[in-house]
Amino acid sequence: MIEIKVKTALSKSGLKELDYALNPYLGCRFSCVYCYARYFSPTEVKERWGEVVVVKSNLLEVLRREVAIKRKGVVGVSTITDPYQPIESERKLTRGSLKILLESGFRVSIQTKSPLVLRDLDLLLSHKEKVDVGLTITTANRDLSKTLEPLAPLPDARFSAVQKLKTRGIDTWIFLGPIIPGLNEDFRQVLERAKEMDVRVIYDVFNYYPGLPFPKVSSREIARIEEEVKRECDRIGATCHSEEEDWLYEKRRRFKPLF
Ligand code: SF4
Repeated sequence: MIEIKVKTALSKSGLKELDYALNPYLGCRFSCVYCYARYFSPTEVKERWGEVVVVKSNLLEVLRREVAIKRKGVVGVSTITDPYQPIESERKLTRGSLKILLESGFRVSIQTKSPLVLRDLDLLLSHKEKVDVGLTITTANRDLSKTLEPLAPLPDARFSAVQKLKTRGIDTWIFLGPIIPGLNEDFRQVLERAKEMDVRVIYDVFNYYPGLPFPKVSSREIARIEEEVKRECDRIGATCHSEEEDWLYEKRRRFKPLF
């Protein structure tokens, strides 16, 4: 673990549905084999991906200053690491950031693979109208998950977190992705569980980055997989959006004036 001091907490997000990105940590212990976040990380984190995590030790102090002067908007927590990876149970930078953001009138969109998000249910419940939580579920197959995401919580723990959040009235969704051709095309079970729990699914096909152990997916292959997901969603009656469609959906859903 490495501690650093940062000058900024909120950065501009490259994702259309978010105004800002907030990443309390750099590097991610969950060590997913398809993760391209390493290519945006400092050298030591990149070279020892999954082993080295950088902690932004003064993050909360900087964030407190920024929320007082920045335009309110939607903050993605987090976008290049998992905000509830194991170190969060000790350092609580994600929890601290959520508290500051929500109490200052920002909206927060959380994405994680970890049921540790349930620890912060009190905070999420008291700002329900400003929060949504996505659990990434790449596959319902336990063994495949262990291969693809060796140190991440298993799919059942993630489904169970989705159920608990949804039952408590939190806007909850499942991120089905990345779908890697020939590997985790077993998405039917994920869609069926989403339908049972009445949560929407956002899906995405694998994005290639040089160095990752899977080949680039052709646009024809992407179209084929997207068609299959849509067909299966329609058959099951699940609500599904591709990642591209999702930002339009989010834009319509979120922006009733709140501040
Ligand atoms: S949980 Fe997310 S950030 Fe962490 S290794 Fe997996 S894909 Fe990368």
